[in-house]
Amino acid sequence: MHDLSDSIISINGLGPKAQEKLNAIGIYNLEHLLFHLPHRYQNKTRLTKLNQAQVGEEALVELTIERIEEAPTRQRQLLCYLSDEHDRTLLLRFFHFNQYQKQNFTRRDTVQCFGEIKIGRDGLEMHHPEYRLITKGQPNLLEKTLSPIYPLTGNIHQAQLKKWIDIALETLKKSPLSDNFENLAKNSMPSLKQALETLHHPKEGENLDQIAEFRHISQQRLIIEELCAHQLSLLKLKNERKRKISNIFEIKTHLSDRLLNDLGFKLTNAQRRSIDEINTDISSPHPMLRLLQGDVGSGKTIVAVFACLQAVENGFQAAIMAPTEILAAQHLQGFSNYLAPLGIDIAFLTGSQNTSQRSEQLDRIKSGQAKIIIGTHALFQESVNFNKLGLIVIDEQHKFGVHQRLSLAQKAQNTPHQLVMTATPIPRSLTMSTYADLDSSIIDELPPGRKPIKTIAISTNRKDEVIKKIKQVCTDNNQVYWVCTLIEESEVLRAESATNTHQYLQDVLSGLSVALIHGRMNKDEKSKIMGHFLAGKINVLVATTVIEVGVNVPNASLMVIENSERLGLAQLHQLRGRVGRGKDASICILMYQSPLSANATERLDTLRQTNDGFKIAQKDLELRGPGEILGTQQTGIANMKIANIVRDGYLMNQVRYYSEQFLNLDENQQQSLITRWITDDKTQYVNT
Ligand code: ADP
Ligand code: MG
Repeated sequence: MHDLSDSIISINGLGPKAQEKLNAIGIYNLEHLLFHLPHRYQNKTRLTKLNQAQVGEEALVELTIERIEEAPTRQRQLLCYLSDEHDRTLLLRFFHFNQYQKQNFTRRDTVQCFGEIKIGRDGLEMHHPEYRLITKGQPNLLEKTLSPIYPLTGNIHQAQLKKWIDIALETLKKSPLSDNFENLAKNSMPSLKQALETLHHPKEGENLDQIAEFRHISQQRLIIEELCAHQLSLLKLKNERKRKISNIFEIKTHLSDRLLNDLGFKLTNAQRRSIDEINTDISSPHPMLRLLQGDVGSGKTIVAVFACLQAVENGFQAAIMAPTEILAAQHLQGFSNYLAPLGIDIAFLTGSQNTSQRSEQLDRIKSGQAKIIIGTHALFQESVNFNKLGLIVIDEQHKFGVHQRLSLAQKAQNTPHQLVMTATPIPRSLTMSTYADLDSSIIDELPPGRKPIKTIAISTNRKDEVIKKIKQVCTDNNQVYWVCTLIEESEVLRAESATNTHQYLQDVLSGLSVALIHGRMNKDEKSKIMGHFLAGKINVLVATTVIEVGVNVPNASLMVIENSERLGLAQLHQLRGRVGRGKDASICILMYQSPLSANATERLDTLRQTNDGFKIAQKDLELRGPGEILGTQQTGIANMKIANIVRDGYLMNQVRYYSEQFLNLDENQQQSLITRWITDDKTQYVNT
């Protein structure tokens, strides 16, 4: 007799090879087998009459053998003609068979066959059906419940897998299955045991359409539990962090009041709320880990500046990390504007600095003279010694891995507070399932006076109209971005194609100043050009996607994106966010090469219809799936057994409710939920 915790190798006939294959998909013990659910079902619960059989559907029929013959075709075929009591016929065709099989078919015998009904030249047929010779005493094909069809892995056969899972199901009948969820759900949902039994072997009459759509209560029960397990494991991480010690910043207003006075604008409510939330975190003795989400242009920078001021007023350093040199340089400029008048010293660190520049910055960082340190990945390097690091601000979350975040955090004595800014809003279902270990502040309000960006999609063969529009915009003294998105394999080719476009635009836009910027240029060239563009000396800036994030030139009011159909939604939205930052109404022209794929049409339509980053992020999630958006290994989200956060987003409120309930249960109960569902942590099972 088996136990659910037994290794699968204890099943008779399941050898090391199959074990390895099953381990690879997270199945180590019998209990795990229970969670390998069918992806469809066959109905062998009743016999179908031939006159009711539907072509294209599977049916179980019971008929009489009339005649057996081998077809005289070049490829041998065994033909077995069957009929019912009304002389309706069905032909069985076997393309592979042996003589024993042939001899076993006897005229007037009764046979049960299960397979897809096809239509042949002379009427109904079945090819290679599953069959039993009833007259010869072979067991009936009739089943009491629907028959599961399991997703296969490796070269394991359906019949083997079904047998092994049935052993697990038999074991389940006789063993207790810890089900803490059941108590919480208080009979509003089936027990785990019932849900599993229903899904492996639904009774006839069970709503299969619902099951096919993953909306059956038994599935919802499992989906909620699985999402709960993921959320719970993240919430536990969060609680662990909350037990760590960090520096308490006493909230002071000396510097921030001065900054507020000099600002020249009023903070939005959303900005003020975010600042308050941050202040609450950093004035507690535990490390902050807060995600600051806000659409492009919503004003995240100033919120981060206020957090930095608190670090400075408390005698700590703050590090700001950006994903690219251009962005780091922009932050240097932006932060300097705010902080220089307050007499705060800023250091700057990037990979392209020469040795003497670098060592000068390193000295100022180490001595503590520099209070604010802005840079790229260069901030992680071992040679960087902070004097008293208290706060880390990371811009553009998606470009950094979790490990990079951690290694910067290790450079401080106490775990520093961390603020992660992202301009790619994250759909709620994702926040709850994969970022539940972070706290989150949302800037859901743009500074006043912004005009919404009008977005138009135009086929490339209407380039003339685009050129006309550019001329008009430049006559009005506004500026234009022209983004080349050709996705070539090499930066050389990318630069070359941008160079060609640059040439072309210079020709057709004579009299206007057209400049080029791309990733192959050195840093000085790039920042010189950006400087000229910002100063209004350049009318049209031809760029590769290097300008994707962060760049702020309020006078630019037209953006043209070439080959926009090749880019993802989030990236297009980011690019578009470079305009609409000033007082003038802005336009974004999405040029595309016909014909558009259905997916590309949907992307461009979405952008035309909305400027709302959260709506766009949700659509992006639907079109690309969470694995592509987040990267799979980081999150484990692609390894879920039954849940799918896109499809099941509507269950999130229940997930949250139950996760919070689980947090009140004891440690063992929490852990048993987590280990039941998160089995891809392979180290867990090495000894079983
Ligand atoms: P993002 O969220 O994309 O990082 P930024 O912080 O770069 O946005 O801000 C975009 C622009 O909006 C900047 O020029 C900034 O000075 C301006 N800004 C920020 N907050 C406000 C506000 N409350 N009122 C007016 N302008 C603001
Ligand atoms: Mg920004």
